[in-house]
This record gives sequence, structure tokens and C-alpha cells, in this order.
Amino acid sequence: MKAKILRIAVPSPLYRSFDYLAPEEAGALRPGMRVRVPFGQREQVGMLVELRDDSPVAPESLRPIVAVLDSEPLLPPDLLELSLWAQRYYHHPPGEVFSTLLPALLRQGRPALPHSAPLWRITPAGQQALADDNWRRAPRQQIVLTCLAKYPAGVPAEQLKHELPAGSDSLRALLEKGWVEKALDAMPVPRTLTTPPVLNPAQEQAVTEVCAALSGFAAFLLDGVTGSGKTEVYLRVVETVLNRGRQALVIVPEIGLTPQLLARFESRLHSPLAVLHSGLGDRERMNAWLAARDGSIGVVIGTRSAIFAPLKRPGVIIVDEEHDPSFKQQEGFRYHARDLAIVRARQLNIPVVLGSATPSLESLLNVQRGRYRCLRLPHRVGAAVEPPIEILDIRAQPMNDGLSRPLLNRIQAQLEQGNQVLLFLNRRGFAPTLICHECGWLSECRHCDAHLTLHLRRRRLICHHCGARQPLPPACPACGSIDLRALGQGTERIEEVLKQEFPGIGLARIDRDSTRRKGSLQALLQAVEKGERQILIGTQMLAKGHHFPDVTLVGVVDADQGLFGADFRASERMAQLLLQVAGRAGRAEKPGVVVLQTHYPQHPLLQTLVGGGYPAFAAAALAERQAAQLPPFTCQALLRADALEPESPWAFLTQALEVGKELSRDVELLGPAPAPMERREGRYRAQLLAQSARRPPLQAFLDRWVERLTELKTARKVRWSLDVDPQDLL
Ligand code: ADP
Ligand code: ZN
Ligand code: ZN
Repeated sequence: MKAKILRIAVPSPLYRSFDYLAPEEAGALRPGMRVRVPFGQREQVGMLVELRDDSPVAPESLRPIVAVLDSEPLLPPDLLELSLWAQRYYHHPPGEVFSTLLPALLRQGRPALPHSAPLWRITPAGQQALADDNWRRAPRQQIVLTCLAKYPAGVPAEQLKHELPAGSDSLRALLEKGWVEKALDAMPVPRTLTTPPVLNPAQEQAVTEVCAALSGFAAFLLDGVTGSGKTEVYLRVVETVLNRGRQALVIVPEIGLTPQLLARFESRLHSPLAVLHSGLGDRERMNAWLAARDGSIGVVIGTRSAIFAPLKRPGVIIVDEEHDPSFKQQEGFRYHARDLAIVRARQLNIPVVLGSATPSLESLLNVQRGRYRCLRLPHRVGAAVEPPIEILDIRAQPMNDGLSRPLLNRIQAQLEQGNQVLLFLNRRGFAPTLICHECGWLSECRHCDAHLTLHLRRRRLICHHCGARQPLPPACPACGSIDLRALGQGTERIEEVLKQEFPGIGLARIDRDSTRRKGSLQALLQAVEKGERQILIGTQMLAKGHHFPDVTLVGVVDADQGLFGADFRASERMAQLLLQVAGRAGRAEKPGVVVLQTHYPQHPLLQTLVGGGYPAFAAAALAERQAAQLPPFTCQALLRADALEPESPWAFLTQALEVGKELSRDVELLGPAPAPMERREGRYRAQLLAQSARRPPLQAFLDRWVERLTELKTARKVRWSLDVDPQDLL
């Protein structure tokens, strides 16, 4: 029988799909196709999720769809299933879920056809020239050619423009010399591949175990210390998967931060590779998405949202740095890419590998409970050893703006031996606030419960929470004194200290301010690699995945930051961050050491980390979470609300609490309480926490609760959202 009703997810904040009438020739319609539908006064592109015979809506009130946009389902059945699962699990409006997972052009209803973009390619003559020529007079051309040499198959013009915004003149010059060519199509050019190293026994074991399990679902935790060769394990697994004619999906925290990882995949795998990340242009993104869907590329590497990449012949999913907080989307559709990786692998019946040197407590518990198999790489590759961590008690030590004399001396000693030093401070700007020495006035944001950060170089006070900025006041706004002082340290200030202390030494400051311009991070990292900069100072951008062979000393400028966080996850984050940063030291032949500056040398967290490393920390933290009945031993969902006046969120959450109390005995409701930062961007924020010892009662509760919440009168005066498995309570 022919279905007459089409259930369609239409982009809207409403927690439901909508029914429409099918056109006459509805036979060809299948779920996963896009349709254009009337919606309110406008037309929208919706996703067909179900064909039905009936609708709860009276037939005369149903409207027909306007057009069918696809002749084949755009979303393969598995992806449709995954999004429906995610909608139910995260309790998010269906239309917005589909908006999140489709590339913009497809979301807007463009035909699902790849745009062929022109490519730039290096010629054999260009390869030759790159090897011989003396480039002193054309450094720009050299940069362009070096970039092209990395992609013998050609680089889409759009991508090249993105990577080297200033390269177009150089390209013209190179074209004239015959060193580059413009092609219209990607011609698969065999790449010169690098030879893989011989695996050590632990790597061998890990690869063997995963490869023996390729024919069905299995979840692995690859728990390997920094520099233990996890990436090498991924590469071998991916190679095997490709050899079997299947595709690999690799999810990483931030692609921009790990150019080295991408380069490694490219230099090792024969198969074409698609990269999906937020920096892509719309067309590039759609092309990559479609290429993954039709199976013409073998490997998809991407950030969080790539977990929704379509795959024609899925073979394995890999999640690198699985503990990384960036896998959880913090606004809108608040999914967790690692958790979805597990769900997706199960649906696809393929293995999933989660890798980390500092696994999340969630994953460690899953290992304990027998849900994941643990593969261990306990040692660094080759002669490299994990660096010892030393606590440097800075109480009563002479300080130069955040750097103690003993640390400065140790930096000096390393520099004298020709080594590199990395300093970590997770706070950008010059100082976290400006204070009046006369009256105690502090620079505070007008819109948030937060201080304005002093950015001396830009001569601005900037709020890191809402972005508000203002010029530096010439005098104290409260008392008129001109004795305004910077309070505390940021990376900019540490850079200044280092300039004074080590004149003539090359510095690389790496944070969001110094890397705002495209390509600037790459340039800084290259300068470090070439040894032109001897000291690196930066935020958590430095913690991730970089391989600096000459770094022998890592200094954590302020280990106290994060010791007293409000969130119960603060210590886990802090331990992970410290050990990831520590992991940058001593990665090659030269041994390294990590020095933590602290005022609390006896703090149990620091003591545990120094004494027993991450395993000791994780064991203690899990025991604490269990005793306190916190995740991962319990399940949580956080209901947030905000409004321009303080009363509305309270009124809404108080009502939410009342209706919630009637719904379930197995779910505990805690709150309402003000958010840890109560005012942000001018809005007052409050929250209510739902917690349960088990998942099913919580999910059943949320199903009914959300339905009731949408009906509450007080809901109209607030912006509210539900965060299932919240990662931070801010
Ligand atoms: P991780 O991902 O655990 O940090 P990597 O895979 O990046 O570790 O390995 C660290 C370094 O050791 C890299 O430079 C890598 O090329 C090298 N390496 C990895 N495995 C081996 C091996 N079996 N033999 C020699 N070198 C290796
Ligand atoms: Zn004052
Ligand atoms: Zn602000």
C-alpha cells in the first residue's frame, strides 16, 4: 500500500517532527531524502524520516510538500538511524539535529553533486627546483611550492588560498616558470610514501588484537603514555582496513593544532583522505562529505562533527585523545562525539578504538566493567622515557612576574645546552585583571560576573566570556588614581619577562591571540621545529599532540590554577592537561623533565600525580566519584535557563522542579541553583540538575519532562536547554 503521510524533520526549535501529505508519485520516496516544505509563512528544507499511513493530525489540516530534492536518500540508513538515536538520547529538536549533521550547502537544499574545483599541483620540474634552487630571493614562492609538494595529487585552489592567503602572486610566478600547473580534476597521483617503523611488541599486540576484531563490533581503549606510538597503531589498523576495501573514520580534537598528525596520515596511506573541520569552506566541506559517502576516499579525518560523516564501506572508527573536552558540543545540539562513536560502531557492527595517554574516567570505568578491552602501551617508543615531574615550591621564592628564580635558572641551563624549553600557562592576555593600587577597584565586565583581562599589546580590556572590550582607562574610574596595576599573569606577560631575562633568545608565544591569523600557528610551529625559537610559551594549544624533539624542560607556570575548581571534573581536567603538557618533554633521545610551580606542594592531587602518574590519579578519582555518587557512577542531565532579568529563570526552574518531582522516584532533582557564573553576556543564568543511578529511568524521565517543560507558561520568558551528560556545570 502507498504511504500517504510523510513525517518530516524541519529545522526549528520545536521538539517534534511534522506530518505532510505525500505527492502522487510517492512510490520513489524513501527516508533520508530531503524535501522542501511549507513551514509557517516560509519554505524550509526538511528531512524525510518516516513514511506513514496515518497521522494524528486531521487530513484536511495537512499540507502537501513542495518538492522532493533527492532522487536517492542523501543520508544512508545508518546515519538516519544514528541521528534518530541521538535525538532521543540528547532530547534535542529533530530538525536541528539534521541541520547539525549536514554540510551547509546540502542543508540549504543544493543538489548533492560534488563541485569540481580547480587544483594546483607541483610539476616534476617544480620538485626539482625545490630541491636545487637557492630560494633566498623568493621565500614566498618556496613556501607555496613546499606546501604543494606535500600534496602530489594537487591541492584545491580554495584550500590553498585558505592555507596560504598571500600566495596568489607567487602562484602566478611559479606557473610562468612551469613549476606548478593548474588541473581541473583530481588525478590520483601515486604519493611517495614513507616507510613504516618496525612496531615494538606492545604496539604489535595492540594492532593484532584490533585487526583480529575487524569483522564485528568491539570497543578498545588504547591506553598509551605520551609518545608511546599510539598514532602508529592507528596507522596500521587503518592500513589493514583499507586493504580490505573498507573506510576508516578518525576523530581528533582540533585539526588546526595537529598539522603533524595529518601529515603523517598523508605520508603513510595510499588512499585519498578527506579532512573535515570547522575551517573548511562550504564547498570543500560538501565535496569531502559526498566523497566519503560515495566511497571515493578511504579515510575521513575530522573534528567532533565528523562523527556524522557518511561512509559507504565503514571499517573502523578511531577517536584520538578520547578524553578531550572538545568532543562534547557545548551549545545547541549537545552531543558527545566519543560517545556517539561507540553507538555508531555498534550500529555499523565495526570496531572502535579510543586512544589516550590520560583516558577519561568514563572510559576507564567501561574497561573495569568489561565493556571496553584495554590495550596498553606502557612505555615511550625507543630510547625516550617519560619525563619525571618535579614540584617546585614557590612559597617565599623571589619571583619575576610569575617565574621563580629557580625555574629561570633551570631554563638558562637548558638554553646553554642548546635545548628548547616549553612554558605552559593556561591564561592568555597580559594579566587576568587590572587593579587600582589606591582603592582596590578591579576591572570587571559589565555583562558578566567576571573580570576583564588586560591585553597590554592591544591596549584593551577584554572579557573572555562575552568578548566585550574597552580601551585601557587612563585612571581609576572609581577614585581617579593613575596607579593602575596588572594583577596576575597571562601568556603575554610571561613573554615580556622572558624577553627581559633572556635577551636575544627566540620566543614563540602560542595562544589564541598570537595565532588568530591563518597560517600563523603553522609558521610558529615551523620556527620551533627549525630551532629558530628556543622558548615556547603558550596555553593548552601547546598541550595537544605536538612533537618537539628538542624540548627537554616543560615548566608549568601556575599549577595552582585548577586545584580548587568549582566543578567536580576540575581535577580530572587538570590532571589530563598537566600530563599532556608534560608529555611534550623528552620525546626523543634527550631526556626531559617537568617542573610544576606551586604554592601548595603538599596538595594531594599534585602528590598523587608526581608519585603515581595518571593511573594513580585515576584510581583515586574513580574511588572519590563512587563515594560521592557522581558520574561516571551516576547519570546526569542539566536543565539550564537564562533571561535578561534574574526572576524568570528561577520561576521556570521552580516550576520544572515541581512537575519533575511528580514524574519519577528514581531521579533526584537538585536545585534550582545559580550557574557558577551567574551573569554572562548580560543574562542571568540558573540550573537544575537531574541525576539517577541508572540510565533507563533517567531517559524515561527526560522524555516526559521535556514534554511538560515545553508547555510551562514560565518557559516563554526564558531561554532553556537540556544538557544530557553535561561536561561542565558552567
Ligand atoms: P603517540 O601517538 O602515542 O604520542 P606517536 O605514534 O606519535 O606516539 O609516536 C611518537 C614518535 O615515535 C613518533 O615520532 C613516531 O614516528 C615514532 N614511532 C612510533 N612507533 C615507532 C616504532 N615502532 N619505531 C620507531 N619509531 C616509532
Ligand atoms: Zn581607585
Ligand atoms: Zn563579559
